[in-house]
Amino acid sequence: MALATFFLLLSSLISLGLPWIVRRQVDSILVDRQMVTLTLLLGLISLFLIQAFFSFGHNYLLGAVGQRVLAELRASLFSHLQTLSLSFFTRRRTGELLSRLTNDLAVIQTLSTEMPVNLTRQALTLIGGVAILLYMNWRLTFLVLLLIPIVVAIARWMGKRLKQFSISVQDHLADTTTLMEEMISGIRTIKSFGRESYEQIRFSRQIEKTLAVTLARLRISAAFGPVMIFLGFSAAAGILWYGAREILLGKITPGEIIAFIIYAMIITGPIGSFARLFSQLQEGLGSSQRVFEILDTKPLVTDAPNARPLPPIRGEVRFREVSFHYLADQPVLQEISFAVQPGEKVALIGPSGAGKSTLIHLLHRFYDPVSGSIEVDGRPLKEVTIKSYYDQIAFVPQEVILFGGTLRENILYGKPDATEAELLAASRAAHAHDFITAFPHGYQTQVGEKGLTLSGGQRQRIAIARAFLKNPRLLILDEATAYLDNESELFVQEALERLMAGKTTFVIAHRLTTIQKADRILVLNKGCLAEQGTHPELIERRGLYYHLYTLKIVGAEASLPEQETS
Ligand code: ATP
Repeated sequence: MALATFFLLLSSLISLGLPWIVRRQVDSILVDRQMVTLTLLLGLISLFLIQAFFSFGHNYLLGAVGQRVLAELRASLFSHLQTLSLSFFTRRRTGELLSRLTNDLAVIQTLSTEMPVNLTRQALTLIGGVAILLYMNWRLTFLVLLLIPIVVAIARWMGKRLKQFSISVQDHLADTTTLMEEMISGIRTIKSFGRESYEQIRFSRQIEKTLAVTLARLRISAAFGPVMIFLGFSAAAGILWYGAREILLGKITPGEIIAFIIYAMIITGPIGSFARLFSQLQEGLGSSQRVFEILDTKPLVTDAPNARPLPPIRGEVRFREVSFHYLADQPVLQEISFAVQPGEKVALIGPSGAGKSTLIHLLHRFYDPVSGSIEVDGRPLKEVTIKSYYDQIAFVPQEVILFGGTLRENILYGKPDATEAELLAASRAAHAHDFITAFPHGYQTQVGEKGLTLSGGQRQRIAIARAFLKNPRLLILDEATAYLDNESELFVQEALERLMAGKTTFVIAHRLTTIQKADRILVLNKGCLAEQGTHPELIERRGLYYHLYTLKIVGAEASLPEQETS
């Protein structure tokens, strides 16, 4: 930064000196009738060369500083986003976040690279230019300076309009990104309802609106330069008119008046661009506010100051009067208490919206309870470090996410330092080895974008292999509701049973066999623990479970194969 400023200073000084040399030459040609000497010509060319070098130096150095700032900002945004609690993401639309990461960062990028260079150069030019003008002819200078307030007033007015439109453009761009993101993630729904043309119209309307405000901004920014140039030339004409009289009166030389006009034009530039830079700065401040709002958000779930690592656990889980809400006046879980012994299989069931996923989120420490506590092996989760807890649990979600990369990398996601033997054992146990080796590239097969697409059952088996590698003591499952074909279903079930063996398991259960085999069934209703017990116990009680079991589950699973419903 310091070196860049030094270069900038030198290159600006040379720029300011050039009209002075022009003045001398004009006078020696016009007044003294002398030819330009070769030495002077060479001297001038050398000066241009030096100036070019200094210009390159400060352009590059200041640009590089800006780019580094941006790269760092991008990296810290990415890593900070990962530390934020789940609630941060559920409250925002993905498209809106992406817009901040792309559109807003782009604005900051322009600002951080161009702003320092422009601002410093313009300031130097303005100060130097005015000083030289005053030295040359103070009366003429005052004439020039009279024009400045007019220029500034016009520039500021235009700047303000530009800022208003810029905010609106950024908002519209964010909405456009959101629509695009929703289209991509919701493509199945769009296609199955045949709403492509509706989405097209919705998107076209959005594009039209964005285009309209962008064009409005463009009109102003396009007019900006010409207006400033017009004002500059008008000033030059005024100086010429006044200067001509002074020359005729013999008060100044022709060289002086030419140099004066050049200087006057030189300083009109900075005055115009100050206002523009000011509005750019406003625009940039808006964007950085949106970006720093993310960086300043603190994760809700963090390690307590006195948190200790959780020693290897046996898998005992206890909920003590746990209550939770997402929004202050809408309780989701109310005073839930239960205790689970190591190795127990717990099935969570209940009507939709009863709070099953929320309970799992709390157990996973995606959120902390509002009141009450969750204990693992007698230790409250709030008193242990998150990492040491996560190292001992595994989560198999309903929707398995595979990251871009090879199948091997995807399985190793659970334990990057696993040995080859561990990897193969986990894949075999998860019934994934056979289908993986059937692909031409085996474990090196690329998945995700432009790669292989796996079936639902295959994805689940990859997720199970991931969990096997981790060998957790506590397992959290969100059972897939999607219908798998018989063979795939069987493989997934077998793999899951092997995975659950000997581990404390919580499963949001959708399949009858899972529920029937559970050591304990927790029946949730409207955020309360309505009943708990084994399948026979709860059937006998003829309460909510009995009702759900006979009416809903049997009905819903009637279409499943024989073995499921028998
Ligand atoms: P389902 O079987 O339909 O998945 P569930 O039993 O898993 O339902 P939860 O997802 O835990 O139910 O939701 C419980 C309640 O909490 C619902 O009323 C839901 O509207 C609310 N809820 C869930 N997530 C959020 C959130 N991020 N912000 C606000 N409210 C939420």
